[in-house]
Amino acid sequence: MSKAIYPGSFDPLTFGHIDIIERASKIFDEVTVVVLNNSQKNHLFSAANRVSMIQDIVAGNGFKNVSVDISEGLLVDYAKENKANVVIRGLRAITDFEYELQIAQVNRVQLPGLETIFLTTSLDYSYLSSTIVREFAKYKGDIRKFLPESVAQKVEAKFAKKEL
Ligand code: ADP
Repeated sequence: MSKAIYPGSFDPLTFGHIDIIERASKIFDEVTVVVLNNSQKNHLFSAANRVSMIQDIVAGNGFKNVSVDISEGLLVDYAKENKANVVIRGLRAITDFEYELQIAQVNRVQLPGLETIFLTTSLDYSYLSSTIVREFAKYKGDIRKFLPESVAQKVEAKFAKKEL
């Protein structure tokens, strides 16, 4: 049985992430979206908020074999504890590649047998990142082409309260 994990910050979830989740759910028996609660990053949303937003989208899209979880520590430890054998990552451009290759290799040294599989971005979303969404939202740009309405509202609410 193939049990895949799709780790990331998802701060916030975009159509690019949803596309990868949907495609992965058709390839693997089980997919868990793992929200990494990385203390080094200054997040817009708490990990618990990100999990609940992703859960709503997963349920709304009817992705039956997809679950959502949080990891506070190393991804390899999460994979081991949860008996996952595949890590999914998305690749947008060559600029993603070097970093992704390094992480995949480190993870494989740490946990031999854990394979990283890359899904290439759909052309429609190749420009899209959570960073771009946050930048647009900060300056009150229209973010509705980038992410679902329910998430867009929460992002806008966050920035409505923030001073530029
Ligand atoms: P991280 O902070 O770990 O890079 P992100 O939430 O930014 O986490 O991204 C999670 C994963 O989703 C990464 O593998 C990233 O390359 C991928 N991803 C992000 N945006 C897109 C997109 N538009 N198309 C395809 N993959 C994407």
